[in-house]
Amino acid sequence: MEPAVIGKNRRTGWIEVICGSMFSGKTEELIRRMKRARFARQKVEIYKPAIDSRFSNEEVTSHDENSIPSEPVDSAGQILLMVGNADVVGIDEAQFFDGDLVEVCRTLAGDGRRVIVAGLDQDFLGQPFEPIPQLMSIAEYVTKLHAVCVICGSPANHSQRIVADRTRVFVGATDAYEPRCRDCFDPDLGIRPTKPAEHEPQPAAATDPSVDVPSPAEPGQPTASTISDGNGYDAPAQPDGHPADGKAVAPGDPSLPPPR
Ligand SMILES: [Zn+2]
Repeated sequence: MEPAVIGKNRRTGWIEVICGSMFSGKTEELIRRMKRARFARQKVEIYKPAIDSRFSNEEVTSHDENSIPSEPVDSAGQILLMVGNADVVGIDEAQFFDGDLVEVCRTLAGDGRRVIVAGLDQDFLGQPFEPIPQLMSIAEYVTKLHAVCVICGSPANHSQRIVADRTRVFVGATDAYEPRCRDCFDPDLGIRPTKPAEHEPQPAAATDPSVDVPSPAEPGQPTASTISDGNGYDAPAQPDGHPADGKAVAPGDPSLPPPR
């Protein structure tokens, strides 16, 4: 739900979160809300992480090329320095910011501003993608959007990585991800080696319970530093080990839900 447009005599700010998988129309929804505020002659500012260099450093660009001017920032704290007297603050691709974004949004809302944050709520392994979960907790309004599963047509909640190579940098890849529902989502697909590793014979000591045998790597927990994404850069690892990933260049967003 989108709250009423903030009035001139605003006193109380709030936080709105727009989240969901890739191809769910998050950026389109952010742009729609920002444009409505701008029509009402409210001062709007949009920020995005400088790392999101897919299309333009000066515009928030959604997959359907519906765009509005924005400022790339290197850190969440930089938003506080740049925000000026904006009534409405939009933040896109919020999953690329670190945990400082939570406190930044608190501060902005505490100053009486309307804060609209858009970002992926899950990474390509289906794990919560900080800091979006924290922002959802403290937000007044949360909108979770869905794409359409390319396999079965159900509402899609996951960003499926369909290229099983986590070390290669996909420059301009358009088909590295696709939306999938819970049943069709396969988190291992994106980290599975292209060629299955040869089965190594167990060392003889493995049968001796008194000997420590290194356990195989936890499935679904790749080494974050080796994760690459679809944008042509290596995304930094999050502090908790989740890959700062889940993005790809898309040719369009054919599966937008109807406007709400
Ligand atoms: Zn499905």
